[in-house]
Amino acid sequence: MPPLSTSRIEIAGIPVAELARQFGTPAFVYDAAMIRRRLADLRQFDHVRYAEKACSNLAILVLLRRAGALVDTVSGFEIRRALAAGYKAEGKVPPIVYTADIFDTHALELVVAHNILVNCGSPDMIDQYGDLAPGREITLRINPGFGHGHSQKTNTGGPQSKHGIWHEQLPDCLLKAGQHDLSVTGLHMHIGSGTNMEHLAQVCGAMETAARQAGPSIRSISVGGGLPVVYREDDPTVDLEAYFELCDAMRKRLENTFGHQVSLEIEPGRYLVAESGYLITEIRAVKHQGANLFYLVDAGFNNLPRPILYGAYHPISIVPADGDTNRPETDVIVGGPLCESGDIFTQKDGGFVATRRLPRATVGELLVIECAGAYCSVMGSNYNSRPMAPEVLIDEGQAKLIRRRQTFEELTAGESMPDA
Ligand SMILES: *Cc1c(COP(=O)(O)O)cnc(C)c1O
Repeated sequence: MPPLSTSRIEIAGIPVAELARQFGTPAFVYDAAMIRRRLADLRQFDHVRYAEKACSNLAILVLLRRAGALVDTVSGFEIRRALAAGYKAEGKVPPIVYTADIFDTHALELVVAHNILVNCGSPDMIDQYGDLAPGREITLRINPGFGHGHSQKTNTGGPQSKHGIWHEQLPDCLLKAGQHDLSVTGLHMHIGSGTNMEHLAQVCGAMETAARQAGPSIRSISVGGGLPVVYREDDPTVDLEAYFELCDAMRKRLENTFGHQVSLEIEPGRYLVAESGYLITEIRAVKHQGANLFYLVDAGFNNLPRPILYGAYHPISIVPADGDTNRPETDVIVGGPLCESGDIFTQKDGGFVATRRLPRATVGELLVIECAGAYCSVMGSNYNSRPMAPEVLIDEGQAKLIRRRQTFEELTAGESMPDA
């Protein structure tokens, strides 16, 4: 891949400067066409189930619903977001699935009341659901005994992971489900986020073994999410065609054994939305500390915590106010406004500060943090009492505000003071 450009003038056809004028900074901007393109990449699978937690804005959910994606939710309020965005609770193919390792009281009430398909990640979930809703169908999330992710913290399989039902306990859990009159109609595995082809291929093998153990009650299999995204030039990619072929062959072998159709689902979050997103910031200070040059911008890890959480790399570009995209580059450290030394966008795993080759820029110019559609805004916080940034969706050349900047009143709503 050619190196990603470090200068940017527009996003989805609209000048970045105009977006900043209209919506202020910091602001997240998403390109609808990119989300649709990524969904279309996966059309060979019977169903694409969007892992809502990657970017749960209602407008993004509506976009994906209209484009044909189903949805995977991991909390009670995520279920409510999916319902609010127009997903039906029930259907021949369940539009909404609840996947978790526990039920909190609210989530349990919701799935029971709305008859939402539950993908159980622990034996206790089977008991708790079975007590309230005997007779229903469930699916089981299996931990195949191995996992992989772009970071230890995004690895969701293996003995160190809290996720899923340990593969050796599958027979016990099938019995447990039977005792509650629950039928296990599907199996699911999700081993990590930002994984690679080799590990995804392993999932297919483990899935086939588990499905054969469970037997012909299995009518759907989900190979989870985890598809990687290219954040930097040398990041691994997955050959989607080859991956589909592998999954499809496994599915066909199961169909032959079971004598009925088995549907094949994929459940990406990152892959669908990461590349669509941009965080527009303004450079508010340019300063030297010893030999280091810092660009300090008005967004921090309160807006985009992936670098401080995982040492994640995001492409960064400068929006040259004079339109000159050939400015000389220099090594810079990009940081935010928070009173916390880890508030650095250019850092490596372990918190080590790194530099980035970026064009020379001055105070007042815009800086864009790219590939910021997945696990960015949704991981935002109010740390330092900074408001949640607005979100903007560009579709067919039109930029629409899909979340306004949080106000002071919204930020403090729900707090109360003792009487004077
Ligand atoms: C987070 C998650 C996903 C999506 O993972 P990506 O790496 O974003 O594709 C899929 N399924 C489940 C159950 C998840 O928790």
